[in-house]
Amino acid sequence: MKKTITLLGSTGSIGVQTLDVARMHHIRVAALTANKSIDLLEKQAREFLPDIVAVLDEGCASKLKAALSDTNIKVLKGKEGILEAARYEPSDTVVNAIVGVAGLLPTIEAIKCGKDLALANKETLVAGGSVVKELIKKHGVKLYPVDSEHSAIFQCLQGCPDNALKKIILTASGGTFFGKTKDELKNVTAAQALKHPNWSMGAKITIDSATMMNKGLEVIEASWLFDVPDEQIDVLIHRESIIHSMIQLKDHSVIAQLGVPDMRIPIQYALTYPERLPSPVKELDLSDLGSLTFYQPDTETFSCLRLCREALRKGGLYPTVANAANEAAVQLFLDGRISFLRIADIVEQALSQCRFDTDTVTLEAILETDRETRLKISEK
Ligand code: NDP
Repeated sequence: MKKTITLLGSTGSIGVQTLDVARMHHIRVAALTANKSIDLLEKQAREFLPDIVAVLDEGCASKLKAALSDTNIKVLKGKEGILEAARYEPSDTVVNAIVGVAGLLPTIEAIKCGKDLALANKETLVAGGSVVKELIKKHGVKLYPVDSEHSAIFQCLQGCPDNALKKIILTASGGTFFGKTKDELKNVTAAQALKHPNWSMGAKITIDSATMMNKGLEVIEASWLFDVPDEQIDVLIHRESIIHSMIQLKDHSVIAQLGVPDMRIPIQYALTYPERLPSPVKELDLSDLGSLTFYQPDTETFSCLRLCREALRKGGLYPTVANAANEAAVQLFLDGRISFLRIADIVEQALSQCRFDTDTVTLEAILETDRETRLKISEK
């Protein structure tokens, strides 16, 4: 059955690749959203002819409205505009490709309106996993992972009995600075950190890969998606990014999903599940590669991975704090205001300074904790 989608964050790296998949498989795109990139959004709107587009920045929304005045496309603005796109009635599936915790409320709105979700926005589950999972159950919607590692696990799990899983093995490229010591990382710049060896992605996730915070966020994401605790999630450095992740079963069989590093495979699977359709992605030629390499992660130098695991074990609002501190710190690093190594220090400090009276997590508490954590960091 053909889907009708709302694509949140259509102008980003995942957004553009989602439109490639939609173009190839004639998926109807009913709504598109962006923060500020209105030139690209206009181009996308003219090609895909959605009913609505929404732009977070109100000034940019007004400009886009003028630019699209010769069409029937409705232009919405601000946070409410993005939420309206997430709720948009004709769409049966919302692809969330927004970056950061800004994706949480649109995810929640989409679930409440009974939409299935194709989720790239991992921060949604890291900051709000318990609330999101509860709502998914209540509204009976489906959640399809887009993150390549989680899509790989989801693919490996197809056909496995419910109680067969022993552990998840998340692979990690190791990012730009694999093998470097703390001393060598003291003076690295944002331009250096933004050069990922295998993937072309948005700025925030590329920095997260360099610090290995990305893998920490993914451990938390995997825990929510597949209902497994921290101890059952291993992380393995695999420099070539060919094995996208693996599962080990109780009989010690290991099942892996492989492919060239191209996000259009997991995006397509999330949108066409359980079908396997042709893809524009290059075929994998293992003889061409010759060998694949594996290493243990260095959690001393790349302490964000360890910090995320600690936050996951503590539970409650700790992952929300880790995520908010990281988002604020990455922005400071990209703005040239702090050094690369300060990112992990900021996350560690934020986690060590927070105290919570209760383990109960509500949406209000998540939003408030996120806001307070950022505020404390910006005041320093
Ligand atoms: P990008 O930065 O490339 O794109 C982000 C998108 O979100 C853009 O459309 C941007 O609009 C929009 N946006 C930014 N801020 C806001 C906001 N506050 N409210 C609403 N919309 C906003 O990110 P990526 O595509 O790289 O990543 C998106 C998500 O997918 C992240 O959570 C990331 O971790 C995850 N992911 C990404 C992968 C990748 O290969 N890129 C792989 C796996 C997961 P504008 O262009 O106007 O700024």
